Amino acid sequence: MARARDPIADLRRIAFLLERANEATYRVRAFRSAAKALAGLSTAELTERAGNGTLTELAGVGDVTARCVAESLAGEEPVYLRRLVATEGSDLDAEATALRAALRGDCHTHSDWSDGGSPIEEMALAAVELGHEYLVLTDHSPRLTVARGLTADRLRRQLDHVAQVNAALPEGFRILTGIEVDILADGSLDQDDDLLARLDVVVGSVHSGLKDERSKMTRRMLRAVANPHLDILGHLTGRMVSSRPAGVTGPGDRGHRARTRAESDFDADAVFAACAEHDTAVEINSRPERQDPPKRLIRRALEAGCRFAINTDAHAPGQLDWQRFGCERAALCGVPAERVINTWSAEQLVAWTHDRR
Ligand SMILES: [Zn+2]
Ligand SMILES: [Zn+2]
Repeated sequence: MARARDPIADLRRIAFLLERANEATYRVRAFRSAAKALAGLSTAELTERAGNGTLTELAGVGDVTARCVAESLAGEEPVYLRRLVATEGSDLDAEATALRAALRGDCHTHSDWSDGGSPIEEMALAAVELGHEYLVLTDHSPRLTVARGLTADRLRRQLDHVAQVNAALPEGFRILTGIEVDILADGSLDQDDDLLARLDVVVGSVHSGLKDERSKMTRRMLRAVANPHLDILGHLTGRMVSSRPAGVTGPGDRGHRARTRAESDFDADAVFAACAEHDTAVEINSRPERQDPPKRLIRRALEAGCRFAINTDAHAPGQLDWQRFGCERAALCGVPAERVINTWSAEQLVAWTHDRR
């Protein structure tokens, strides 16, 4: 008999690939729930239940996931996994690949503490598996109530929790603390200054009043960029393009709402000049439905001398691999690796954010 594979690892891998392919959440959840339900069982019990067909009696385990487990235990790559691997997206061209390879971490990610779907631990493990050296956890700020933004108290609790999780993670990897702080209508930031000062990395984004008129939006963004606590300006136009980019393949579009939103209107040259002056990085947001900023603005930011951060804005582990989309767009615009702050080590990154404050 062939040597058994690790069925939990196979289930988690399937969930990761489904997320990366932007598949519907319910489908991903089936695999993550099964992995969680089975993680507590001994190999002996797992094998026995797979043998007598009682895996599905466990909450969270269905026919499809049970079949995957049986195949893994028999030493075969589960058919479901094999199919997913076979239909993976196309390769990046050389420049985008080199840029992706130069990235050592991700500066914009969410957990289930705000509107993400997975615990911090699960996000961190996926980042380790991708070869990252760090992951900046940037859950939302209090005013974004729809996303369960963290109050100052909850953020303080999260900092303690991250310290504990870090202690258990493999050497050479760490979660950096952070926030995606709302840029409020007057350009101020939606969290206490002393708390922002404690964080390793601060991403600031506009999530409301996206249709503000040009001069108002420009003033708002300029004030935020000049704030020494703000390190990275997130998804700066707020646009939603809703389409699935080339390279994201998957069997269906179920669960995807077609949702588009125009870019907000602001004086981009003034904002980029301010980013260059205050050394605030411009985010290249990799999310398929955002692709923000558009390429013409990436080029202008590059000309203005700005630094960039190529981030996923991941709300689930599999989305952490979406950096390749941001890298493709950056490469198309000629963004060199030395302008990208997440090509730095965690130490360099944190030294930079602390210098700026
Ligand atoms: Zn955001
Ligand atoms: Zn975000």
